[in-house]
Amino acid sequence: MIKEKGILFVLSGPSGVGKGTVRKALFEKDTELKYSISMTTRAMREGEQEGIDYFYRSRDDFENMIQNNKLLEYAEYVGNYYGTPRDYVEETLESGKDVFLEIEVQGALQVKKNFPEGVFIFLFPPSLEELKNRIVSRGTETEELVKNRLLAAKEEIDMMDAYDYVVVNDKIDHAVEKVQSIVRSEHCKRERVAKQYKKVLEADLG
Ligand code: 5GP
Repeated sequence: MIKEKGILFVLSGPSGVGKGTVRKALFEKDTELKYSISMTTRAMREGEQEGIDYFYRSRDDFENMIQNNKLLEYAEYVGNYYGTPRDYVEETLESGKDVFLEIEVQGALQVKKNFPEGVFIFLFPPSLEELKNRIVSRGTETEELVKNRLLAAKEEIDMMDAYDYVVVNDKIDHAVEKVQSIVRSEHCKRERVAKQYKKVLEADLG
C-alpha cells in the first residue's frame, strides 16, 4: 500500500476578515483536517489556552526557534511574532494527513515559496467598511491599533493574486462550506489522483 502525502491548506486574508472564526467553525465540523497550532509572543486573551489556541512564548524563545530553523514561516504582526512550527506540519503531511494553517498574509507568502504545491485560500471581506466595523466592534483594540490594522488590511487585499481560491466571508456557514468544497475538490484533482494511480501501477508492474 502506497502512502500518499497529505495536502497543505493555507487559509489567509486581511486582518479582521474572520479567519479565526471560520477556522474554528470549520474544525467543529471537520475531523479529517489537522490544524497546525501556531506559536506567538502575544499575550493570552481571555478564554484562550496554551496548546489549544496558540503556544505562547517569550520573544527570546521565539527568536531561538527562528535561528534554529524550527519555523516553517513567521511574521511580525502588530508588534508580536506569529509562526508555524515546522516539524508538526512536515511530519503530519508525511503521515498522509492534510494540514490546515490559518495565518496572516506575509506568512502565507513564505509558505508558498516552500510549499508551492500547497492550496492557498484567501478569505475576503464582503466590504472594507464591514471590515472596519468588525475590527472596531471587537472592542479590544485602541484607535491606533485599529488604524494600523486597517492600513495592513489594504496592503493585504492587494495580495489576493498569490492565491488559488477566494472565499468571501459573507456568512460563516457559507464560507466554511466553500472551504470544505475546496478540500474535497483538491482530493479529486486529476494531477494528484493520476499520480497516485500511476505509482500503484508502477509498483505492481515492478
Ligand atoms: P490574533 O492575535 O488575532 O490571534 O492573530 C492575529 C493574526 O495572526 C491573524 O491574522 C492570524 O491569522 C495570524 N496568525 C496566527 N498564527 C499565525 C502564524 O503562525 N503565522 C502567521 N504568519 N500568522 C499567524
